[in-house]
Amino acid sequence: MPPVSSEWQGGPDGRSDVGRFEMSEMHESLWNQAIAFTRDKSPASFEQWFSGVQFDGMTDGVVSLRARDEFVREWVDRHFLPTLVDFLRSQTGLSVQVAWTVGGELPHPVSSGATAPPVRPRPLRTSIADEPAPVSARRPSSQMRAVKPVEPIQGLNPKYTFGNFVVGPSNQLAHAAAIASAGGGGRRHNPLFLCGGTGLGKTHLVHAVAHRVRDENPGSRIIYVSAERFVNEFVQALQEGRMNDFRARYRERCDLLLVDDIQFLASKTQTQEEFFHAFNALHQADKQIIVTSDKYPQALERMEERLVSRFSWGLVADIQGPELETRVAILRKKAQLERIEMSDDVVVFLAQSIRSNVRELEGTLIRLAAKSSLLGHAIDMDFARQELAMTSTPRASEAGVDDIQRVVCHHFKLRTSDLVSKDRHKSIAFARHVAMYLCKQRLKCSFPELGRAFGNRDHTTVMSAVKKVENLRESDPEVRAHLEALERKLGAAD
Ligand code: ADP
Ligand code: MG
Repeated sequence: MPPVSSEWQGGPDGRSDVGRFEMSEMHESLWNQAIAFTRDKSPASFEQWFSGVQFDGMTDGVVSLRARDEFVREWVDRHFLPTLVDFLRSQTGLSVQVAWTVGGELPHPVSSGATAPPVRPRPLRTSIADEPAPVSARRPSSQMRAVKPVEPIQGLNPKYTFGNFVVGPSNQLAHAAAIASAGGGGRRHNPLFLCGGTGLGKTHLVHAVAHRVRDENPGSRIIYVSAERFVNEFVQALQEGRMNDFRARYRERCDLLLVDDIQFLASKTQTQEEFFHAFNALHQADKQIIVTSDKYPQALERMEERLVSRFSWGLVADIQGPELETRVAILRKKAQLERIEMSDDVVVFLAQSIRSNVRELEGTLIRLAAKSSLLGHAIDMDFARQELAMTSTPRASEAGVDDIQRVVCHHFKLRTSDLVSKDRHKSIAFARHVAMYLCKQRLKCSFPELGRAFGNRDHTTVMSAVKKVENLRESDPEVRAHLEALERKLGAAD
């Protein structure tokens, strides 16, 4: 069957001359990120459907995919590709097309899930989130069932290991304490409280501890959970009358508890109480607890005093923004991991230009590499300068509505057109409200002017959006963290 092509910027163009391509390592890395991003949206059904899809390569902005049959192609095309293509476009800033081939062997499917997608069409639903995972067409053989694999730890990034973590003066203490808590020597502190600004490596370190402990002791029971998930699990257990199981999981069936972004528990008194008891039970049993936070314990707001004091029982280790030398070393490490070729002067230039945090640094590297790969242009100084000039934020005094919209979209991984669209999807509406709020704070624009700049909306809509974000800034730490990150990107206001 000849290749079928889809395009998400301007509709299909009937392109049909796409064959198999040599896949460069950079393409593969960009593709892997796009896949991880798409998988996160709907993990269960992703694994099933993508076991019937193979990535054949990417060149000149065209991604070549092979589907096991027409049914898989149609489903994946409709339900997953918009997200995937949007991600690729947001990383490269370029229009991306997909060319499908249907049928033939798939020796390297995207997902190696033990189950395969269904072969017979069923009534289609509109949202992948609503869709239960497709029914398995193959059953694992009895031989496969005989070997009980070690249960994977949910939510871990396989790349966040100690080996991939660059140590410098800014994170030395946190790193040493993490190694010690993973049983790697040195005094073990319990709890270990890791704190620091966003994008500085807290999550990376706790995942590294989990990987290390699991490698050395496959039987250990490790729970990695974001505070947000802890809240959700707690609420769900309450609603479904499964509190006994919830408590047993966190108090008894756990040898290592890693809780990320504890600041999210602010104001959630009932969950704090539950966490308090889990903490006590594990601590008494000398089970290691590691907590991360964007603030020092004492600076955590709306957190019960008895919890705050327990957080300081062990060691509080902070992570600061990395110095230039560490930024250079991190860039080299990431470039090596992602197999991105870059000369030393480009590495130093990037490290000098991007000081905010490691996530930002990494994001720029990946974007640069993605663009270089799609355009077939080496990453030299001119290329890097150009890209940075295009994406870096203008000085606050020069920024206009467009600039703020662009920075907000980049932050939330949306298109600028989403902000002015009529789309009322929660995440888009939230980003739109945040952008309105930032414009109002930083520019001398009236409400009606802002309404016009955001897709001809009424000025009362802008007023209520600004008010809403003002209130959320006070009451919701997550919103505050987003705003602070955006404000850092936008620079000091006039
Ligand atoms: P945080 O949890 O503090 O917000 P993350 O752990 O998510 O930050 O780190 C953001 C990104 O930066 C991750 O991709 C991580 O791998 C990378 N990173 C942060 N610090 C380092 C470091 N010292 N060495 C290598 N990568 C790092
Ligand atoms: Mg984190």
